[in-house]
Amino acid sequence: MADGNKKAAAERSWRITGALILDPFTGREGQGTVWVEAGRVVERPSGAFPEETVEASGLWLIPRLTDIHVHFRSPGQEWKEDLRSGSMAAAAGGFTVVATMPNTDPVVDIPALVAWQRLEAERLGLVRVWPIGAISVGLQGKALADLWAMQEAGAVGFSDDGRPVADSRLMRAALSYSRSLTGPIIQHAEDPGLFAGASMHEGSVSHRMGIPGAPAEAESVMVWRDVQLAALTGGRLHIAHLSAPGSLEALAWAKRRGLQVTAEATPHHLLLTDEAVAEWGYDAVTKVNPPLRPAAMREALVEAVREGLVEVIASDHAPHHADEKGRPYTEAPFGISGLETSLGAVLTALVHGGLLSPLEAMRRMTAFPHRLLGQAYPGLVPGAPADLTLVDPFHEWTVDPGRFYSKGKNTPLAGARLRGRAVATMVDGCWVMREGEVIDPCADN
Ligand SMILES: [Zn+2]
Repeated sequence: MADGNKKAAAERSWRITGALILDPFTGREGQGTVWVEAGRVVERPSGAFPEETVEASGLWLIPRLTDIHVHFRSPGQEWKEDLRSGSMAAAAGGFTVVATMPNTDPVVDIPALVAWQRLEAERLGLVRVWPIGAISVGLQGKALADLWAMQEAGAVGFSDDGRPVADSRLMRAALSYSRSLTGPIIQHAEDPGLFAGASMHEGSVSHRMGIPGAPAEAESVMVWRDVQLAALTGGRLHIAHLSAPGSLEALAWAKRRGLQVTAEATPHHLLLTDEAVAEWGYDAVTKVNPPLRPAAMREALVEAVREGLVEVIASDHAPHHADEKGRPYTEAPFGISGLETSLGAVLTALVHGGLLSPLEAMRRMTAFPHRLLGQAYPGLVPGAPADLTLVDPFHEWTVDPGRFYSKGKNTPLAGARLRGRAVATMVDGCWVMREGEVIDPCADN
């Protein structure tokens, strides 16, 4: 964390009392008090530092809220987002850790860029930024990047996200090598031929609107290939933003065989259908890849998250400039700005919808993402870094992208009513957001 922040945290003690504590590490679920001292969770404060009490009745306290799929666009596309605006969006959304995708310009395919992202984020002192390195040099899908060197520099996984690894031989090699890496190979599953030219899901809505679509199989045929390559190699495969029923069948097949295959779902695929494309007219705010699916497919995905087949929820936060998203539907870029609505969408769809208990929902945004990246999840055990989020689970609010910290205002949830949001975020014992306001980390808080 930034020096000013670190110093402030090192000499402070916080007593957070009255919250419903949800600790996916221990399974603890109950009201209580958490003490933080010198940046860490402690059993009892030493009394050596000034103590401040935070009254948190009616709120939930969650350790290490994590989003393993975000695009911060830096280096190279800072008009869409940069490490500062992205980190502020993460803090505002309640996240303490984010994993950033490498499809920047230049591509994060060398250790120096991994190290730069880490150091720059530390200098900013907001949230933890864990870079994901590219699988192939320049995302070209031809030569394997130096995965070990990037891991050494701090990469937590590898992906050509934005593009699939189409070459089966290259994917086989990457999965083989993943056996000696800490993090997984993360696939943006898409058959380039089947998806070619598509801007949305192929079905009654795309036909009605005259927008070129691609079938759900454009995703699932690639997932089937990849789970078979995971079986062949014994490698560790993670499927990003899974959305198709056929992909769920492939995932279930892999899990029955005990393969090391995991998957994530996005809040927008859990909450919205392709009818949103019609509701928004030809506004590309709904254009996302994989595309929003019909209701039956959305319901199948929700059920898969509920039963734990899909174990992680990640936003695929993909900010774009308004000018880019304002182009005609077929020409606009894919992506939704998701960090500041993710938690509210998950609570609205899954918890208030009665599908998951609060603790189970939060596992999918804390402990499970750590596990699949091969990272230790500290929870609230004494000595753990104090990365905490206070959530008001019943707060009703209307999504107003004009108030986002993200530079990307592109979301089809604009105007939607959500129930539940983060009200405070602490990283390394420093408040980086309180009552919706991101705090300048260099100030003494
Ligand atoms: Zn992707």
